[in-house]
Amino acid sequence: MSDGTRPGAPAELPVWTVGVRPLGLTSLDGTIDADACVVGLGGSGLSCIGELQRLGARVVGIDAETVGRGAAGRNGGFLLAGIAAFHHEAADSHGRERAVRAWRLTLAELERIAAETPDAVRRTGTLRIAIDDEELADCEAQLSMMREDGLPVERHAGWEGRGLLFPRDASFQPLLRCRQLATRAIAAGARLFEHARAVTIDGEGVSTPAGRVRAPITIVAVDGGLERVIPELAGRVRTVRLQMIGTAPATDVHYERPVYSRYGLDYWQQLADGRIALGGFRDVGGDEEWTHDARPTVAVQEALERCLRERVRTRAPITHRWAASVSYTPDGLPVVEQVRRGVWVTGAYNGTGNVVGARSGRAVAQLAVSGRTELLL
Ligand SMILES: Cc1cc2nc3c(=O)[nH]c(=O)nc-3n(C[C@H](O)[C@H](O)[C@H](O)COP(=O)(O)OP(=O)(O)OC[C@H]3O[C@@H](n4cnc5c(N)ncnc54)[C@H](O)[C@@H]3O)c2cc1C
Repeated sequence: MSDGTRPGAPAELPVWTVGVRPLGLTSLDGTIDADACVVGLGGSGLSCIGELQRLGARVVGIDAETVGRGAAGRNGGFLLAGIAAFHHEAADSHGRERAVRAWRLTLAELERIAAETPDAVRRTGTLRIAIDDEELADCEAQLSMMREDGLPVERHAGWEGRGLLFPRDASFQPLLRCRQLATRAIAAGARLFEHARAVTIDGEGVSTPAGRVRAPITIVAVDGGLERVIPELAGRVRTVRLQMIGTAPATDVHYERPVYSRYGLDYWQQLADGRIALGGFRDVGGDEEWTHDARPTVAVQEALERCLRERVRTRAPITHRWAASVSYTPDGLPVVEQVRRGVWVTGAYNGTGNVVGARSGRAVAQLAVSGRTELLL
């Protein structure tokens, strides 16, 4: 096991690929012109493209691999209001007013996502379940501040354990949403290319190994590995690997809502067809998880498997094992800014980028086109 992967492991595909067909877009060959070029066709880049199109721009989008091949199509499938930190922690770090505003704005974005791709979203709510009395006390602190601030939360005690219910959160099929957004963008006139890695990004466009997009605006919408695409961010952004497993449809458990536990380190949900998608245990891998290598490892996969059997309590066979990269910032806030003349960036969502990334993608589109946005958190 010299490469750290598991012999005989199921293919390194996310459970989200079940029943979702690849788009099979062509690569970029030759030079084309656009008003804006978006680098990265995950949920954030595709939301950015939608906003650019709404603003009347001619858009080209490129991805080094395929639509949703990064974290955007390989994640836990939670749509969470708020930023990565829990509300009371966010209030401590960033001020109460800003934390409340971020919660409200992300909730509005979550509602927009649900309306935009209803087939991909289930309005289930989510549960934060405490692992011990200390975490339960932390749940109480979160509950009390959220109630004071008029944010939607309830105390929860059920067979899953004790903690909090967030009734407005949701579950979604992240890869399906990416593919739907891409299909829609193409139908509205965007030109999207797969297997087209940006190798040079300058103020006048983007070069790939076989082509060039000439555009006065370039927007880089990449989460994991962002500091490699934009080296100026190397000191501020750090890439980490997150891992998951998926099962065949489970008939021995029935989870109505996605659950996260151990301060959000571990998370699982049961999909509409009964499959379990379970992720977390980054801490078990230690410092080795701060890597650009996005392959599953034995240590974390074994921890996930133990959790599946002992905590989630299903015997369903494991059919999928996968990993993907995201990036973190020291202050826990995303990077949404202009980095060079003609080049803007959105990324580094600190592990919860499904909702924040969509909003940031739209915000950076507005910033690049008009210099103004009301969408920043
Ligand atoms: C296992 C796991 C579980 C998670 N669970 C959740 C969750 O439940 N809820 C939540 O909110 N968040 C979750 N996250 C985080 C969330 O998935 C990400 O923050 C979000 O999906 C990032 O999407 P994105 O579109 O910004 O970036 P990415 O998914 O990183 O997409 C960037 C795209 O850019 C492409 N790219 C990279 N470099 C180049 C280049 N040079 N040229 C061209 N293209 C390039 C990549 O191929 C990729 O397709 C999880 C992440 C992981 C890994």
